Amino acid sequence: MIVRGRDLEKGFDDKCDVVVVGSGAGGAVVATLCAEAGLDVVILEEGGYYSPEEYGRFRPSESLRRLGRESGLFPIYGVGDTPVISLMQGKAVGGSSLMTGGVCFRIPDDVLHRWATELGLDDLAPEQLAPHFEEVEKRIHVEEVPTYARSRSTELFVEGAAKMGIPMYSMRRNTSGCEGRARCTFGCSKAAKMSVDLSYLPSARERGARIYADCRVDDVLTTNGRASGVSGVVLGGRDGQPVHKFRVHAKVVVIAGGTVHTPMILWRAGIGTNTTVLGNHITLHPSFRVSAIFDEDVRGWDGVLQSVYSDHFMDDGITLVGIYSAVNVLAAALPGVGREHLAYVKKMRNGAFFGGMIHDEGGGSVRPHIGREPLLSYRMAAEDKRRLVRGVGIVSEMAFAAGAKEVIVPWFGYHAFRRVEDLRDALANPPDASRMECISFHPLGSARMGVNSRLGVVRPSGESWDLEGLYVADGSVLPTSIGVNSQLPVMAVATKIARGLIDEWSRFPPG
Ligand SMILES: Cc1cc2nc3c(=O)[nH]c(=O)nc-3n(C[C@H](O)[C@H](O)[C@H](O)COP(=O)(O)OP(=O)(O)OC[C@H]3O[C@@H](n4cnc5c(N)ncnc54)[C@H](O)[C@@H]3O)c2cc1C
Repeated sequence: MIVRGRDLEKGFDDKCDVVVVGSGAGGAVVATLCAEAGLDVVILEEGGYYSPEEYGRFRPSESLRRLGRESGLFPIYGVGDTPVISLMQGKAVGGSSLMTGGVCFRIPDDVLHRWATELGLDDLAPEQLAPHFEEVEKRIHVEEVPTYARSRSTELFVEGAAKMGIPMYSMRRNTSGCEGRARCTFGCSKAAKMSVDLSYLPSARERGARIYADCRVDDVLTTNGRASGVSGVVLGGRDGQPVHKFRVHAKVVVIAGGTVHTPMILWRAGIGTNTTVLGNHITLHPSFRVSAIFDEDVRGWDGVLQSVYSDHFMDDGITLVGIYSAVNVLAAALPGVGREHLAYVKKMRNGAFFGGMIHDEGGGSVRPHIGREPLLSYRMAAEDKRRLVRGVGIVSEMAFAAGAKEVIVPWFGYHAFRRVEDLRDALANPPDASRMECISFHPLGSARMGVNSRLGVVRPSGESWDLEGLYVADGSVLPTSIGVNSQLPVMAVATKIARGLIDEWSRFPPG
């Protein structure tokens, strides 16, 4: 059952075994596995519900407004000399899973080994997580992108890499029947991307789970020192204002609001507030993109949005990815104003886009703020600024190697480079980081797991150190950046948390 909160004429009370807050990559997995184990489940989602037929018809701008939080441009406030970074997050039934590029990576073994040796998180060692990765990969249909589905933009990326001796590999993505329409981040128009609204939630619904859309959870209810439910508001008014109240009573509460919003709920409920970790240690995987103009007709929109990557520079924390998004979004990122910008927009047919992301050290904090959204700040580490410049340099050189006539780096105030020598001069003296532009899709770590209540907000099992019966199962529990895209990692960790919760079900009060 799916209830659209905006259709409700009054508030509601419900009762269940497990209430899950947030229906994204983490929440949908836990909710579905609990429902499949025979538990009575309620899912509460702040965003709206849109069927694949509905979101598949949205124009990109409409999709950002309806599926994205803050229309897909959640601001991150740079502290000190930090690049301008905007964060994209989903806010709808399916969460950010609806907006992914479909890219699927497991957490690299060296990251898991570091978690085990440096943070004591043996439960997340590679052999422990492997079965959970396998389970999720099967369910969301992870497959390798065939070479014929690559766009010309990607082929140029591969050609440039080959000329520089950089190996490239085909991506694995969670798709079935993808036609390469290159609009994955706006919701697949063919329902070919196996986002959680298609791969998990239907099974939860079949087993009686109730999904309430437009319902924002504000607080956690407690009884006798244990979590016993949540309360919040139905967002039914114009522009999503609160109109009614609801309460859901449950034996177990699972918070999966994502890295930026989960800490807000915990803060209000006074959970994890004794630690210095709640809301801190946020990593972002800052991503960069270089635009390259070729003489040939590239038509980069014809093919899969992201289909190759290289981990050649992973030792230095840099992953390279070929990218292409909706033409109007990419066009907006081209330089100049007025006639100069128009001249670039007219060259879009000849444009290819090369990108990458860095495995950052962190430096993000989220705090409650006076507005409806929290304040997210980020201080980029000196080492990460160096990586960012190096990453931009590598993909720019690749573009020239592939034959680009103009290369545009994401640095404010810089004009296109027409000669590789000029680019190298600029890279030798890069601007302040605050003149660089990045985007983030993978915030992680604000309610990290830890082996004690000083190091973590939650235990390795996902249960809170402070409040029995309260679990967190989303990107916020991953303790560091992972250097690869985060949906599959979040889902595998959520699977592990759900399986543990189900195994321990007899611990929770009956009735
Ligand atoms: C544009 C885009 C592209 C991406 N591409 C990829 C990719 O190709 N590959 C990849 O691996 N990863 C990708 N990601 C990242 C991936 O989507 C996330 O890592 C993953 O979805 C995080 O899962 P989550 O459960 O932590 O949060 P989300 O999936 O964001 O889910 C959180 C949900 O909780 C809801 N919520 C928050 N607060 C409340 C509240 N108080 N009450 C009720 N509900 C609440 C939110 O509205 C949201 O729906 C992408 C993300 C974006 C935005």
